[in-house]
Amino acid sequence: MPITPVIFPELVRALIAVIDANADAVTELDQAIGDGDHVFNLQRGLQALQQHADEIAALDWPQAWQKIGMTVMSAVGGASGSLYATLLIGLAKSSQGKSLNVQGFSEALLQAVEAVKQRGKADVGEKTMLDVLVPVAQALQAEAAANSALPTILARLRQVAAEGAEATRDMVATKGRASFLGERSKGHVDAGAKTAQLMIAAIADVLDSAAA
Ligand code: ADP
Ligand code: MG
Repeated sequence: MPITPVIFPELVRALIAVIDANADAVTELDQAIGDGDHVFNLQRGLQALQQHADEIAALDWPQAWQKIGMTVMSAVGGASGSLYATLLIGLAKSSQGKSLNVQGFSEALLQAVEAVKQRGKADVGEKTMLDVLVPVAQALQAEAAANSALPTILARLRQVAAEGAEATRDMVATKGRASFLGERSKGHVDAGAKTAQLMIAAIADVLDSAAA
């Protein structure tokens, strides 16, 4: 059975739950090398999405991503708001006219992640959410090409996301507020990479149980 935006309200609930459950730990990371508002920014965005969740559930995926991206854009200040909005609006564009099986979605996601790189003028290795998003998008494409079963794909994405977030610990930040600290940004996982990982794991859990 194809996954449709009907699952969206459940996804938003899962994202709110995982960010709330990890709020203190992530804020600690963000206070170490950022300005400490990252969790608040995400929570604002997720609350706004929850308000529109039923409306979004009735759309098709490209329309849903467009609406999700616009909602995030208007609700969230900060770098992460505009970068996630770029990702989601990018998905709306890149999924247009594609059949959204795993293969099609993985291609759309890679293009959307490319848009985030351009928007933030950043790439992997700069201690940002891209250190999670890029390897996850690449792993998804590889698993799609290998025709892996959904539980296998989701397990791989959880693992790659966790490795990507952890890898930011020893990186020097060269983008965003943490870059002001230079070498002193070393030793802490990037907050935006951590929340990207947490959200991917939460989405994987919802999809796992939806497919079961
Ligand atoms: P702000 O940095 O404006 O306070 P947030 O605190 O919500 O916004 O988000 C910070 C996170 O955004 C960082 O931890 C990092 O992962 C991500 N980030 C910041 N700048 C960039 C960039 N240029 N490209 C990709 N991600 C970035
Ligand atoms: Mg911040």
